[in-house]
Amino acid sequence: MSLTEGVIRILEDQAAAHGFAKVKTVWLEIGELSNVDPDSMLFCFGAVAKGSPVAADATLEIIKIAGQAQCLSCTETVPVSNRFDPCPKCGGFGLAVTAGEEMRIKELEVE
Ligand SMILES: [Zn+2]
Repeated sequence: MSLTEGVIRILEDQAAAHGFAKVKTVWLEIGELSNVDPDSMLFCFGAVAKGSPVAADATLEIIKIAGQAQCLSCTETVPVSNRFDPCPKCGGFGLAVTAGEEMRIKELEVE
């Protein structure tokens, strides 16, 4: 719930900073490794947004970002769905995550 409240807070801050009254659509990127569950984010957003004049009519669109890492052993860039998985190429455990940990607002449609 607090993550959702954080997103709403950002929308309100943006509205104040850029002078718009309402958000119509929010595109939110959620990384596969971010531990944010897109379904519960959608559910909570619907509930929390009702309490915010800026976000009350907003539609949340979630863009899932696949996990990606660079292997420190074989230097390949590999897909990763769990940060503790070994490298699928060489079996090494030294993976440096390069994508998929983020949760960020990509775009807003406002009025
Ligand atoms: Zn490797």
